[in-house]
Amino acid sequence: MIYDPQEYAIQDEPMQPFISEKEIWDVLEQNKGDSGLVREIIQKSLSKQRLTLQETAVLINTKDPELIREIKEGAQRLKANVYGDRIVLFAPLYVGNLCVNNCTYCGFRVSNRDQKRTTLSKEELIREVEMLEDTGQKRLILVFGEHPNYNAEFIADTVSTVYGVKKGRGEIRRVNINAAPLDVDGFRTVKQAGIGTYQVFQETYHRGTYSKYHTSGIKRDYDNRLTSLDRAQEAGIDDVGIGALLGLYDWRFETLALIRHVNHFEAVYNVGPHTISFPRLTRASNALENEQYRLTDQDFTRMVAILRLAVPYTGLILTAREPANIRKEVMRYGVSQIDGGTRIEMKGYSENRKIQDINSEQFEINDNRTLNEVMEELIQEGYIPSFCTACYRLGRTGEHFMEFSVPGFIKRYCTPNAILTLAEYLEDYAPSITKENGYKLIDRTIGEYDDMEFKSKLVERLNLIKAGERDLYF
Ligand code: SAM
Ligand code: SF4
Repeated sequence: MIYDPQEYAIQDEPMQPFISEKEIWDVLEQNKGDSGLVREIIQKSLSKQRLTLQETAVLINTKDPELIREIKEGAQRLKANVYGDRIVLFAPLYVGNLCVNNCTYCGFRVSNRDQKRTTLSKEELIREVEMLEDTGQKRLILVFGEHPNYNAEFIADTVSTVYGVKKGRGEIRRVNINAAPLDVDGFRTVKQAGIGTYQVFQETYHRGTYSKYHTSGIKRDYDNRLTSLDRAQEAGIDDVGIGALLGLYDWRFETLALIRHVNHFEAVYNVGPHTISFPRLTRASNALENEQYRLTDQDFTRMVAILRLAVPYTGLILTAREPANIRKEVMRYGVSQIDGGTRIEMKGYSENRKIQDINSEQFEINDNRTLNEVMEELIQEGYIPSFCTACYRLGRTGEHFMEFSVPGFIKRYCTPNAILTLAEYLEDYAPSITKENGYKLIDRTIGEYDDMEFKSKLVERLNLIKAGERDLYF
């Protein structure tokens, strides 16, 4: 066993693994700083160093609007330095909404009689994937309720089916998972199916609040969920995603707890989680609304900037739960992956209804744009939309590989791969105006390369894509 909760137990709370409420609140109480300290911390992060819990708390406690502006500006600079202009795109695919749990914020919870329950048949699954491929998607996250029918074998079979669907020039090259925590053998089974990231969100790191919102079912067990990604590591899945559902409890606590969770991974496995998600609660069928901890746009955008500065190397995911204007703003501060063309109703891609049916989806989304509309906006804003899957397919993951530790990696691998996958999209799926704007962006980006040898290799591959070759990467 790699992770023994006893070994990492907290002194005053001996039976609890790595999250101590007392520690988090103490750090928040005790770390407030003047403008000098806040600026020092921003500078530390700009030199690409991880922030400590204490430093993160100082940023969280900053109230002066001018300093908050500087925090956001720092995050923007850091993002440009670390990630360049890329934004990675994916789409969620809901496979089944049966659920034995009772998370009171979620439309899928077992006690919600109005939810229309479905599990995609193999044919329906294939149809959904074909529809997604037809729009140009290459990266999916499969989402499941928690139910005995959705065991590790079922998840693994679903993943294999998805990889097998090829429509025209379309194919799915990376399948991530957001499903219930598994045991070590279960994680091994899904790993063998070739998954990318396995995401499990803790929802809230605050135990009392956790009990309040998870009223029955397997998910009631806070510790089982908290240690689930340790079991994934034990099973060899070193590419994991953590998250908190914002709006259940105080965002300052959840932000620090997320960083504490990252620290745990770094201490035990030498590598942090691949991604952090921080969805804000949205309306769901017959779900409880909670005003007390509702996060304002101002605090939300500030929180994203703080996370970016605190963990410069961790991917930050933002989904269509947020409206387009907020997505646009926080992409500047640090978000590195977004979904596009999202439909979260069961069979949502094949049925393509114009109005959301809250009784056949988990929660409401606020960005209904098509993938191409999202791509258009990204291109207009100067971002290179990326469908790259190279690192994962070349085994460049986990402790053995930190893309950011290799000097010049982004320039030599990420940006060129973003360009090549964008070119595939422009050739195969884009309307003419997007194609024109997309190639202008590509030409501009290539023009900035001063390593002539590398530039010619990149142009050569780009020409091969224009001539019909696919799936080229560095
Ligand atoms: N059933 C699995 C589980 O609970 O881990 C899979 C995840 S669930 C389908 C995906 C995530 O959606 C949850 O972890 C939760 O954070 C989020 N979610 C649930 N209800 C939500 C709501 N009303 N608004 C926003 N996000 C919500
Ligand atoms: Fe089920 Fe997940 Fe919804 Fe909870 S969040 S009710 S476990 S689908």
